[in-house]
Amino acid sequence: MESLKVVCPECSSVSNVKQESQTAVCSSCQADLDDPFPLEVTDASCTIHIEENDIPILVDFYSKVCGPCMAMYDDYEDAALGFPMKVRFLKIDADKHQEVARKYGVSALPTIIAFKNGEEVNRISSQLSQIQLSLWAQDLI
Ligand SMILES: [Zn+2]
Repeated sequence: MESLKVVCPECSSVSNVKQESQTAVCSSCQADLDDPFPLEVTDASCTIHIEENDIPILVDFYSKVCGPCMAMYDDYEDAALGFPMKVRFLKIDADKHQEVARKYGVSALPTIIAFKNGEEVNRISSQLSQIQLSLWAQDLI
């Protein structure tokens, strides 16, 4: 049986999930792994998600004082809800957590970067609509 490594949104530990299984819970803390809600991450947890997940990742680098970033807030959330266990949507406050932003040379906000198997696959530095975000996520699967 194929299994996927999925990082827990609650405790950041890695679970092996059988693709055929109906339930996906963290083997450490029993949190729902298939909760699609965008996850607010720190430098440390963001790095674990990028490096350890077998599912693709989107990271939204945002700032609370950036108008376009906050205007995209609901669209990002709505897009994320369509991809439980398919694409992990992350958000990182680039004012508070600058290490990951620096590592990937993020200079404009918002910037959204897609990662697969720990590698950046592409990025966009502008506000996107729910449809644009959903099409992009679909493309990563
Ligand atoms: Zn957990």
